Amino acid sequence: MRRPMVAGNWKMNGTLQSVADLLSALKGEKLPENIDVAVFPSLPHLQLAQQSLQDSKIQLGAQDCAVQLEEGALTGETSAMQLRDLNCGLVLVGHSERRELQSEDDQVICRKFIAAQAAGMTPILCVGETLAQREQGQAISTVAAQVDAVIAGAGVQALSKAVLAYEPVWAIGTGLTATPEQAQEVHAALREHIASYDAEIAQQLRILYGGSVKAANAVELFTQKDIDGGLIGGASLKADEFGAICRAAGN
Ligand code: PEP
Repeated sequence: MRRPMVAGNWKMNGTLQSVADLLSALKGEKLPENIDVAVFPSLPHLQLAQQSLQDSKIQLGAQDCAVQLEEGALTGETSAMQLRDLNCGLVLVGHSERRELQSEDDQVICRKFIAAQAAGMTPILCVGETLAQREQGQAISTVAAQVDAVIAGAGVQALSKAVLAYEPVWAIGTGLTATPEQAQEVHAALREHIASYDAEIAQQLRILYGGSVKAANAVELFTQKDIDGGLIGGASLKADEFGAICRAAGN
């Protein structure tokens, strides 16, 4: 039985005040006990979030980490060790916005994945196809190759201490959502692909869906057999909407 997870990626949003308000509103939401809930504020807000969440079961994550595990001469970067020092237990790696805007390739993402685990954090590895790749029938081969790159560098065992997020690029922030059937098809294919390396790891691996999830479509997505919760962008910035998504995952 896989424990569902709902993760809120706050991206580059908020001020100290608005993030403090969002955190306190979120702590006021009735969140299910049978799922993991995590938020991923932007870097300047991590310390505030860490303090605010001390008395809460909501977990804290970062949106990215450096390829290098320890501190050093990497201007503008933040190491996984520094994030761990802030009590971040989770970190997103390979979000499509970073793959696209920061030209992060599979090798860079694999190094970040390894650094996150070496620091004792759980990486959430994001994979997803573009619209062009989907239209060319390459959705599944694209995400499988993204997972393969991490397995090649980190080994399949590393997936036993990670979470996977399927986020079709064409559905992120666009208001377009994969249908539950489209999402389930890719989740099942990913699980089957990972099972070709190790069936047990594939069976216990949580695979989240991300891409314009809202309270209104969460139930039909989360009731799919291979969907174990969601990675939520825009809708995670409203505490009541995010709370409703969490409750959909808990039912
Ligand atoms: C995301 O950025 O991971 C995401 C899924 O965004 P949105 O929910 O806004 O599509």
